[in-house]
Amino acid sequence: MNRILLIGAGHGHLVALRSLAQKPLYGTRITLVSPHARQVYSGMLPGILAGHYGLHDAEVDIAALAERGYVEFARGRAERIDPKSRTVFLEGGRSLRYDFAAINAGSRVDMSLPGAGHALAVKPYDEFLAKLRLAERVAVVGAGAAGAELAMALRHRGALVTLYSEKPVLSPRAVKQLRRRKVDYRPGMPVTAIEPGPVVVAGSARQDFDLVLLATGAVPLPWLRSSALAQDERGFLLVHRTLQSVSHPEVFALGDCATLRDTPHPKSGVYAVRHGEALVDNLRRLLSGARLEDYVPQNKALLLLSCGARYAIAERGGWSAQGRWVWWWKNHIDRRWIASLR
Ligand SMILES: Cc1cc2nc3c(=O)[nH]c(=O)nc-3n(C[C@H](O)[C@H](O)[C@H](O)COP(=O)(O)OP(=O)(O)OC[C@H]3O[C@@H](n4cnc5c(N)ncnc54)[C@H](O)[C@@H]3O)c2cc1C
Repeated sequence: MNRILLIGAGHGHLVALRSLAQKPLYGTRITLVSPHARQVYSGMLPGILAGHYGLHDAEVDIAALAERGYVEFARGRAERIDPKSRTVFLEGGRSLRYDFAAINAGSRVDMSLPGAGHALAVKPYDEFLAKLRLAERVAVVGAGAAGAELAMALRHRGALVTLYSEKPVLSPRAVKQLRRRKVDYRPGMPVTAIEPGPVVVAGSARQDFDLVLLATGAVPLPWLRSSALAQDERGFLLVHRTLQSVSHPEVFALGDCATLRDTPHPKSGVYAVRHGEALVDNLRRLLSGARLEDYVPQNKALLLLSCGARYAIAERGGWSAQGRWVWWWKNHIDRRWIASLR
């Protein structure tokens, strides 16, 4: 009997589990490895911080979802993969063999900034939520969509928030909302270090805070970076359009931890969900002996950026809109996603 090992309960694997719950894949042994039986959906994290949602609104019971699809849930954290012996080693000494594996273990926050240990990284999300305490003066380092959403969510809760950004990457609409909500947005001001205090150092400027959050870009997980699986120049797993590793076709990779060699695209939950649909389809094909199909990334993805209050911005390609209705639209999409996994 074939053994399929799903590593990480990222967006794509959640989609795969949902599909298996609707239509199980009989005649194969499928195991999901993840450090936690329950996890919070990242898209609703700013809403939790802003006070719009409780934890239970955004939580997915992974173990229950797996059970519905006849997938064994193995609680654990992978720390090494040996593609030669087709074995994954977990923290604590356990190991699991596979015939086919799929990796959807996400990415982590770039911690290369000197003194990054004095800040709280937004990933892993469970650790972030467990350690986060509301504070008066907050700095957010990294002004991508996630950093901007977190900054506005904390501002909504009354904190004085400074948002540092190396490059100005936010859209004019997002910048306008940051200013309107009195987030001290500092584009083009790269943080050079964080010192005990915590103190944010940006060139010759130094400022004291009560809390510093790191929402700097995604970097690869160290255990995948040091694996024998083929990688792009940054260390993300390099895959074909079928989502199979270009070096080890029995290993699939999806979500943030993967880069499509022929059609690279931005890393976000929206793409990871689509990867999941392609993965489960290809696992079914693989086991029935059919030819695998290519995943074709959508050329425009919808970005929904919440602005602290029940107000949001929508952007897709050259189109954009904003308002309270956009927040309710995002709320509907997020709640529908969670409901579909319950
Ligand atoms: C605040 C915030 C808001 C965001 N909002 C949005 C949004 O609205 N829309 C959007 O498209 N994107 C959003 N993103 C980006 C999005 O969260 C990521 O791109 C997305 O989570 C990547 O999904 P993934 O499926 O690759 O992995 P993740 O969703 O990060 O999941 C990784 C999984 O792997 C598990 N795991 C990690 N390490 C191991 C290990 N060693 N062994 C086993 N399991 C492991 C984790 O526990 C987790 O279950 C947001 C990001 C942040 C920080």
